[in-house]
Amino acid sequence: MRVGFGAATVALVVIASPVDSAAPRTICQPQALHDLQRLSPRGYDVYLAMKDKQQFLAFLTCDDVQLGLSTAVHESVHILTEQYDAYPLITGGSVARLHAISRFYPPREIAVAFNRNDNYVQTYLRRGAASSADDLSYLFDELNAYSHDLASATKLVAIHREDDGQVDHRAGLAALMSFVMHYAKTAREDKPATWKGLQRPEVKALVRTLWTQAETVLMASWGIPEFGGEKYVEGLCNRQNGDALAELIDGDTMNPQVCAALATASSGGSLTK
Ligand SMILES: [Zn+2]
Repeated sequence: MRVGFGAATVALVVIASPVDSAAPRTICQPQALHDLQRLSPRGYDVYLAMKDKQQFLAFLTCDDVQLGLSTAVHESVHILTEQYDAYPLITGGSVARLHAISRFYPPREIAVAFNRNDNYVQTYLRRGAASSADDLSYLFDELNAYSHDLASATKLVAIHREDDGQVDHRAGLAALMSFVMHYAKTAREDKPATWKGLQRPEVKALVRTLWTQAETVLMASWGIPEFGGEKYVEGLCNRQNGDALAELIDGDTMNPQVCAALATASSGGSLTK
């Protein structure tokens, strides 16, 4: 599932109403797939991996092709994750889901640390809203899907049209990274059973793999203006937030140079548009 300011709504309309407008909605698709192959080969790999191409194409609407493609990649990653029982990685291959982590404390318990009206908090952490609110393995599923999503959106900047308007492509991944970071922080502070479980080598390896991929994608997008997510990234750069996760992955949670640049830009007032 992807928080969409437009795309998800359009996709629902396509599914819900079998009207004659289907042709104009899909007319861009051959060129869009060509652009994906040319500009984002890793995103195209996701399309190729889908057995049922219609499941990918259902999300590829024509009003904003950059958003349509990155959303189709995102949703397809979820489908592949279910099929493989593993998280597909951007650079190829996959890492197995660990079902034991479903017994860890439910991610919805960290919602209090965030603005409850935030779209991502509402969608992914609110009780009853999504599997990710109840089960850490689905929070990782979203982290991975948003990594693929932003990786493709970043590569597809060339096909963005001015009249498509601004879409916060970076905000989803930055939000999910913040949730994972706070999940580790809360585990270390208040949830001894989960914190102990997180120390198991295979769990640490999974967290390190998915986090490193996410952080790499986030940083690669950093130079692109109007991709959003600054508020979450500021929190990600706060050492107090990241200490527990840093302990789990045995390294920096965020690129120190980027966080230093962010702090300088913030104090100078030039970070935001
Ligand atoms: Zn999703």
